[in-house]
Amino acid sequence: MPSEWSERVAAVLGRPAAQQPPWPDAGRLRSVSAFLATLPPLVTPDEIRALRRQTARVAQGEAFLLQGGDCAETFDATREHIAGNAATLLRMAAVVTEGAGLPVVPVGRLAGQYAKPRSDSVDGLGLPVYRGDIVNAAAPDPRQRVPDPVRMIEAYRTARATLDQLRGGRFGAVHTSHEALLLDYERAQLMADPADGRLYGGSAHFLWIGERTRQPDGAHVALAELLANPVGIKLGPGTTPELAAEYAERLDPHGEPGRLTLICRMGSDRVCDTLPALVERVAATGRQVVWMCDPMHGNTRVSAMGYKTRHFDDVVEELAGFFEVHRALGTHPGGVHLEFTGDRVTECLGGPRGVTETGLSGRYESTCDPRLNAEQALELADRITTLFP
Ligand code: PEP
Ligand code: MN
Repeated sequence: MPSEWSERVAAVLGRPAAQQPPWPDAGRLRSVSAFLATLPPLVTPDEIRALRRQTARVAQGEAFLLQGGDCAETFDATREHIAGNAATLLRMAAVVTEGAGLPVVPVGRLAGQYAKPRSDSVDGLGLPVYRGDIVNAAAPDPRQRVPDPVRMIEAYRTARATLDQLRGGRFGAVHTSHEALLLDYERAQLMADPADGRLYGGSAHFLWIGERTRQPDGAHVALAELLANPVGIKLGPGTTPELAAEYAERLDPHGEPGRLTLICRMGSDRVCDTLPALVERVAATGRQVVWMCDPMHGNTRVSAMGYKTRHFDDVVEELAGFFEVHRALGTHPGGVHLEFTGDRVTECLGGPRGVTETGLSGRYESTCDPRLNAEQALELADRITTLFP
């Protein structure tokens, strides 16, 4: 990497960074990071620029972005699981294209969604919390919960194998995305492209900053500022219009349509109250962002039996509110961000087969948040088509 970039990256990563694991061994982290940096990036600038052209069309109201997959990918995911998730994404895209008459841009939460932000540093058993397979193991064993940087190498290899499977399959361009949470992993895959002199995140085509790591003076937002990838930022109900405008100005300094996606996750009961002021204030900056709805993360609750879950009807309700707000303001509801799988899990309530509270225990497999199963996801795609004017 040219030295002017390495200096800027070092400055950015010197800022405070939330949600980084307490790596126990600095020497081990240094050697893993040095090795990771010798490996080729997972995606190419050409592929990233191809997606950027498509997010520009989304921001201009000519296409719809459909992003989704597991909340937390795991290292033991089977080929069938990966194929099932990708196929579900593409089936949903086909349903929306057909029903809404708009081209759909599918982007998977795939080949890199291994790091998880957590609300507490210990879990219900008093163990160090599981932070995703890239950091520690989900198994409730104190030794396996110790963060191990070598897991970043396994994450790279698993992402590489996932991408090989997708590229070799009949999936076409399923672009990849994940939350750019673990800075030691993201840093190792940065690449400067001599063709345009810009810096790209090489771990995925689209990267987003989560609700818990979007501190305006923190490292995550500052790193996203440096990248030429399309980037997203999750906005919860506490986001002020001023802060949303600041993100738009900082992450899209040159006013490039579709450079920034604002992924709103307000909750079904708050979307209609909180979203309009954000949309209006960001529009006043002159930026053409992609407005995306994540109807999952604002609607999470714990079932009577202790399962983290979401109700299909709350997901639909938040989406309906999101579309309604954009209809009223004359802006484009640009996309949807979801957690789903092609597997027949029972993690979210309701939907076509009416998963019940007691039914959740049947097949609850997520190591983090509850996902829609394939049936629920396809039903949701159908509902989405009815929300377009
Ligand atoms: C997620 O997408 O899994 C996530 C943690 O989301 P958020 O940052 O919106 O809470
Ligand atoms: Mn999640």
